[in-house]
Amino acid sequence: MSLVVVGSVAFDELETPFGKTDRIIGGSGTFISLSAANFTKKNKTKLIGVVGGDFPKDKIAMLQSKGVDTEGLQIKENEKSFFWKGKYHNDMNSRDTLVTELNVLGDFDPVIPDSYQDCEYLILGNLAPSVQKTVIDRLKKRPKLVVMDTMNFWMDVAWDDLMQTLKLVDVLTINDEEARQLSKEYSLVKASKKILAMGPKVLVIKKGEHGALLFKEDQVFFAPALPLEEVFDPTGAGDTFAGGFIGYLASTGNIDFSNMKRAIIYGSAMASFCVEKFGTERLEELEEDELDERVQEFIDLVQFEIKLS
Ligand code: AMP
Repeated sequence: MSLVVVGSVAFDELETPFGKTDRIIGGSGTFISLSAANFTKKNKTKLIGVVGGDFPKDKIAMLQSKGVDTEGLQIKENEKSFFWKGKYHNDMNSRDTLVTELNVLGDFDPVIPDSYQDCEYLILGNLAPSVQKTVIDRLKKRPKLVVMDTMNFWMDVAWDDLMQTLKLVDVLTINDEEARQLSKEYSLVKASKKILAMGPKVLVIKKGEHGALLFKEDQVFFAPALPLEEVFDPTGAGDTFAGGFIGYLASTGNIDFSNMKRAIIYGSAMASFCVEKFGTERLEELEEDELDERVQEFIDLVQFEIKLS
């Protein structure tokens, strides 16, 4: 079993109510692969992306040391990496994008190494929808499961491409604000129906500190987010969630609805680590036994007994 991740590998500059950062590493591909690699064997989480010569080589080595195969990460020595700057509002559930510099992502032509071709699981992290589609087209065999993430930016600038790519995927993960923008519906139940009619068979709506909803046909499941004492920086939480979700599915080899319920608990557990420190810091230091402890906290959080007469 192997899992291919495509996404941005970036520099981020962040401002939250708790502080500011200089340029630190980020990007959807970085967060997803760091998260998913906790579930797969060494080098079975395979990253596709592009960076400029300015991207720190020790951070690529860090990804490798975490078990991420970076053969599909192109390095354009004479160009600059993708750059994103965001500022969070006081409630940390919403943010403004202050700067998006596509740089190397502007003409990104994903190359799929031969060793990635047999992948069974594919996750298309937040990127131009046309690039996401190119990755599907360039795989010789369709994976067993294709998960896609996107954001409002692409709804604004690449609507038609987005509609085309959506038709090709099994699962879409987006946040509540994006679900409303995509469907033009306020009710998330109505939104889910409209979005499921656009192509995906399963929809996950991420609601930050308010948990996540899983929709498939008429079935709905809700997973809470863990009430945390410290929420430092939500950047990458959505991607980390998606990485945990697909990583768990890939490690168990089961993509039915009941296993997807477990997968969103694992995704939520991974996201709860991500927000505890700036950027990728907490994911980089995560120990194996911490994940089980956190999943147990989720189980305890939602377990109750009611006897209906
Ligand atoms: P999340 O907080 O999970 O939505 O993801 C945050 C990450 O998305 C940051 O690390 C950014 O580098 C990355 N990002 C922001 N805008 C874009 C974009 N337009 N395309 C690709 N990646 C992006």
